[in-house]
Amino acid sequence: MITASIFLIGLFVGSFLGVLVDRIPKKKNFIKGRSHCENCKKELGVLDLIPVLSFIFLKGKCRYCHARLPYFYPIIEICTGIIFALTYIFLILNSQFSIFNPLSLITLLYYLLIVSSFIVIFFTDLKYGIIPDKIIFLAIAVNIFYLLIFNSSFLILHLVSGFGAFIFFVLISYIFFSITKKQGMGGGDIKLSFLLGLFLGFPGIIVALYLAFLTGGVLSIILIVWKKKAFLKDTLPFGPFLIAGTVISLFWGNQIYLYALSLLGM
Ligand SMILES: [Zn+2]
Repeated sequence: MITASIFLIGLFVGSFLGVLVDRIPKKKNFIKGRSHCENCKKELGVLDLIPVLSFIFLKGKCRYCHARLPYFYPIIEICTGIIFALTYIFLILNSQFSIFNPLSLITLLYYLLIVSSFIVIFFTDLKYGIIPDKIIFLAIAVNIFYLLIFNSSFLILHLVSGFGAFIFFVLISYIFFSITKKQGMGGGDIKLSFLLGLFLGFPGIIVALYLAFLTGGVLSIILIVWKKKAFLKDTLPFGPFLIAGTVISLFWGNQIYLYALSLLGM
């Protein structure tokens, strides 16, 4: 019941995140201006703005001009709902979580804030090739604040993990640049790596980076072979892989890490 409610809240938060994704790169005011149809510019009413349901009832078309609505919004809404629900389940399984305990609620809020920032970064990078600084710095501040106040025994470990990931990315982008004379890893990826290390700590960040490089690498090779893209010419945005690796690592990182150790016979 609570999981379902959190999924529903996720759908609504997701529709707000979708607006952020669309407006941050265009530097539009996202607090004031209301949502409107991209095609006919007509302002959308309350009934047009119910997450997912509006899209289904309108059969994916604008009520006024019947232009196709982008799938983008319902996809973000559903992703946010699912990730919110998974985050809640993760907390129940991994801590003495009680919805009536204020400390548990703060922890839940903290995780939901951070995964929301991940969802914005994922889709902004995917759609516009931009990792917004504002979101990264905000998420870093929330992370440090939370660790300082509620989890100070882990602060150092998480800071070190963040700096470790950061230095690793600076090195990689330096090596990539000196070989190809092209900038492969953007500054956004490097800043993002610090946030992810800070959030996951060790060994979570190792699992996340491993998954990101594995999936990003495999997909690049598929694209190169399939579309016969010139190698290293078109680079995929790497942010979405980092975020996906981080979310998987958050939920299943410990299992993956222990499994990897057992494979190595440790
Ligand atoms: Zn319209």
